[in-house]
Amino acid sequence: MSSAHVPLPGTQPSERGNLLRGLASQLRGTFTTTPEALDSASDIRNRPAAVVRPQDVEDVITVVRFCREHGIPVAARDQGQSQVAEGIALELSGLAAVHELEEDRVTVGAGILWSAVLDHTLPHRRTPPVLTDHLGLSVGGTLSTGGVGGSTFRYGLQIDNTYEVQVVTGEGELLTCSRWRNRDLFGAVLGGLGQSGLIVRATVRLVPAPSHVRVYTLPYANLADQLSDHLAVANNRGADHITGLALPGAGSQCNYHLQMVSYVTVERPADDRVLSGLNFQPGRDAAVDSTYRDWLLRTGSQPDKLAVRRRDVVVPASETQAFATEVMAEVSPAEVDHRFPVVLYALDRRKLTLPLFRVPDQEDTCFLLRIPQLSNS
Ligand SMILES: Cc1cc2nc3c(=O)[nH]c(=O)nc-3n(C[C@H](O)[C@H](O)[C@H](O)COP(=O)(O)OP(=O)(O)OC[C@H]3O[C@@H](n4cnc5c(N)ncnc54)[C@H](O)[C@@H]3O)c2cc1C
Repeated sequence: MSSAHVPLPGTQPSERGNLLRGLASQLRGTFTTTPEALDSASDIRNRPAAVVRPQDVEDVITVVRFCREHGIPVAARDQGQSQVAEGIALELSGLAAVHELEEDRVTVGAGILWSAVLDHTLPHRRTPPVLTDHLGLSVGGTLSTGGVGGSTFRYGLQIDNTYEVQVVTGEGELLTCSRWRNRDLFGAVLGGLGQSGLIVRATVRLVPAPSHVRVYTLPYANLADQLSDHLAVANNRGADHITGLALPGAGSQCNYHLQMVSYVTVERPADDRVLSGLNFQPGRDAAVDSTYRDWLLRTGSQPDKLAVRRRDVVVPASETQAFATEVMAEVSPAEVDHRFPVVLYALDRRKLTLPLFRVPDQEDTCFLLRIPQLSNS
């Protein structure tokens, strides 16, 4: 699915208008060329010619076949910016149905937000094993990038916990793919940034959900202690979820924390046991109880309106301290604050099962650093 710059055929605006009106008349969903809609789907360099919100998969197929016939680029977009100059930005929010919910899996339209998936699964005490920190993201969007969360060290990425996807290919064909069926396409679309096809439906794994969790926030005097405890917890299965947080502080000082979450199964975990052997700064740590749902929705359930760009960098564990120190020396409090800290996730390379989410191969354990960049900075 190329998003390369291919100008719409026809130099005359009226010719282009006619061509696009031809597409609009074939759709059940909406077709928009208002400046507001185009602005919201544009980045600094690229502005689409139209924004289409398909009503169903048939609409997606119609758009892809039309674009193929006329040499027009097309790309899906959700909260991101489509970067499809002079082409069609496809907003898949209309494909948001829950098609099937079983004990171990749920099948959903690609445009549904993860928060809405949970609205359906949590009443049955089921949850996807890996969730992103913010849940106002679409299933299709995070499956196209990989989907990293605080339980990735244990379960891999969201794409590693996906059983099946339905894809509209660049030829406009609807194909079902999994590890057993159309396997190459499965590997090319999951983590594939929309370059090999559009995901229109996904079946994702579910596991038992806890009703409550205990959330630990642990401050560290330095990055070395934070990283070594992060790895110890990840490797010893001492928590169900763990992320590292780094914030620029006064002068050259930075603030380092670990956020650890233990699921409450039969009874609340004993704090002494969970925290035993960790080298955080005692006295400034905190432990609170929360429902699983409240904790998942800690950053809200809706798309983030602040348009924060994020740069993700994966480095081998042994090089993380040097790299993160450089990053923290460069970021400014204007870009990185308590709402948008630098976040570190531990990754176990052996849990990553699909080819397009690339990580360094010299060590089994890596860290992904998510470095925020406010779009107006
Ligand atoms: C507030 C916030 C918090 C975030 N937290 C996390 C996090 O904790 N973990 C994490 O892994 N990521 C996180 N991200 C990044 C997120 O995974 C990416 O932004 C991802 O692109 C999903 O966002 P989106 O749904 O807006 O997709 P977009 O940014 O719109 O799309 C991303 C790419 O995927 C393609 N694409 C989108 N939908 C489809 C589809 N259905 N089929 C094929 N290609 C498609 C697009 O063309 C584009 O190339 C966060 C982003 C934000 C804004």
